[in-house]
Amino acid sequence: MINDFLWATSIEDAAELKKKNPDAEFIAGGTWINNFDNKEKPETVIGLERLGLDKIEKTECGISINSGVKIQDIADSAELPNLLKVAASNVPSRNIRNIATIGGDIGLGSTYSDLIPALVALNASVKLSDGEQVYVYDYVNSGNDDLIVSVCIPNQDGRFSALQKFTRTNNGTPVLQVAVSLEKDGSDVKNPIIAVGCLEDSVLRLEDLEEELDGKELTSKEALEEKVSKFVEGKTDWRASGEFRKYISSVIVAECLSVAFGRDK
Ligand SMILES: Cc1cc2nc3c(=O)[nH]c(=O)nc-3n(C[C@H](O)[C@H](O)[C@H](O)COP(=O)(O)OP(=O)(O)OC[C@H]3O[C@@H](n4cnc5c(N)ncnc54)[C@H](O)[C@@H]3O)c2cc1C
Repeated sequence: MINDFLWATSIEDAAELKKKNPDAEFIAGGTWINNFDNKEKPETVIGLERLGLDKIEKTECGISINSGVKIQDIADSAELPNLLKVAASNVPSRNIRNIATIGGDIGLGSTYSDLIPALVALNASVKLSDGEQVYVYDYVNSGNDDLIVSVCIPNQDGRFSALQKFTRTNNGTPVLQVAVSLEKDGSDVKNPIIAVGCLEDSVLRLEDLEEELDGKELTSKEALEEKVSKFVEGKTDWRASGEFRKYISSVIVAECLSVAFGRDK
């Protein structure tokens, strides 16, 4: 149960409050902190709402999204890459999209997140309260809980992307989340990024597969599926067996690569 609600008055104040109260959690939209399914409710929270972190703007890093920007505002933004807008729209409930923030989504770091695979595929990074810049992928895989001030989406000129979510029902927790991006050099794939959620406890980059594909011609979808299946294993839970996850991730990763490359619609 929450006993202490500490309002942060500035970014420095929020970081200082966290330093003094290491077990406290930041609260942004509060959709997870207050969620019935959250069995580890903190006793102390640090409120971020008064920091005014609600802008999307062009900066030298690319496009900067303040951590308090709501998921619905990402879906509606004219400035952001389509991949991220589609990922935001894939969060099924508008009520949640209107309250949940991008900082809270990354802070939670769920493997089921719609946004995180897209952010990883876009090579996005977070700016922390001390000014340090960390890739979203590293942040969610390191157990880091420092204050996220903003998220930077680098320029995507020359990169092509695609995403797909596999879920049993529209509102249900997904079985798989895939987002990819790549460059093209004639018929070759260059610098692919392949991010997959729901296979493990946090979103994964299939780095060995990325290396295998880099600088080579994109093969047929069937050959790609076979190749991908050698690089993925899936966990079993009540939504899907590991075997099914391995199969469906091979199909969907191959499809996303083909779509990003412009072979498929
Ligand atoms: C019923 C329901 C269904 C949902 N369905 C989906 C879905 O299908 N797809 C999807 O992607 N999301 C979904 N979400 C949203 C998602 O799971 C999180 O609840 C949401 O993104 C958290 O954002 P928030 O702003 O509410 O964070 P909060 O609940 O305020 O915080 C969540 C975590 O992030 C940390 N945090 C918050 N802000 C920061 C920051 N600036 N820096 C560092 N850490 C921070 C907090 O300390 C906390 O640990 C759903 C949520 C609910 C309640």
